[in-house]
Amino acid sequence: MSVSAVLAHSERGGNAFTMASKEQVLQQLINMSHNLGIESRGLVILGEGNTSAKIDDNTFYVKASGTQLGTIDAEGLVEVNAPRVLAMLDGPELSDSEIKARLRAAMVDPQGKYLPSIETVFHAYLLSLPGVNFIGHTHPISVNSILCTKNWRKATIGRIFPDEIVCCGIAPAYVDYTDPGVTLARSVRQTVKDYVVERGCRPKAILMQNHGLIAIGDTAKEVESITLMWDKTAKVLAGSVNFGGPSFMTPEQVYRIGNRPDEDQRKKLIEGR
Ligand SMILES: [Zn+2]
Repeated sequence: MSVSAVLAHSERGGNAFTMASKEQVLQQLINMSHNLGIESRGLVILGEGNTSAKIDDNTFYVKASGTQLGTIDAEGLVEVNAPRVLAMLDGPELSDSEIKARLRAAMVDPQGKYLPSIETVFHAYLLSLPGVNFIGHTHPISVNSILCTKNWRKATIGRIFPDEIVCCGIAPAYVDYTDPGVTLARSVRQTVKDYVVERGCRPKAILMQNHGLIAIGDTAKEVESITLMWDKTAKVLAGSVNFGGPSFMTPEQVYRIGNRPDEDQRKKLIEGR
């Protein structure tokens, strides 16, 4: 079974998103970006992070390079052609100038004022997965305080409380430090494929060494929930060090929370479905 087939099979429930108009998608993406960009939350500063949303199978919106999440407006979100961006995942390595030219060629309006983010390629891949409509990539201070350490994987290998599992899934996927852009997008694709083969579902969150967090959602609300819950998880993990280190839940406990019918209902409410 292919990765897409496994994921299509594992998606539970319908996709409430399919009825949204292009204008609604844009407004939801703007609101989500503003919420992720609230300065006091410490998820991004300056021009950090990027967001995207699927319009249909052929197009999506992605943050323009250099714009700020907290203040972004419609002009700062570029509409791009998904198949053209996805084509960059295969074939030979691309130089920086080739990547720039290919990204411009993927713009629905090639005369547009802003170029799409350099991370547009991983957005295109993740949005191509069944049931994925919104992506939020941030550099939270709390999460990066772990991802920028030698023990980043070991520190995040177990789950520590039920709401973490409800919002963020049974486990994150991991990407070792990789040069941002097309190279990183290829690593993200391989990581997701490996995760699906190992676990039979897609990850909700990807942790990237020395870089940051990617939240993968059906809805904009789900992306926000995953990001805020990873922020909390990272803070609790940091606090646990003062008291002898985290007590990871057992695999059986994690499985139970991940599969309880009442937790499934709560999950849908949190995700805004
Ligand atoms: Zn980044």
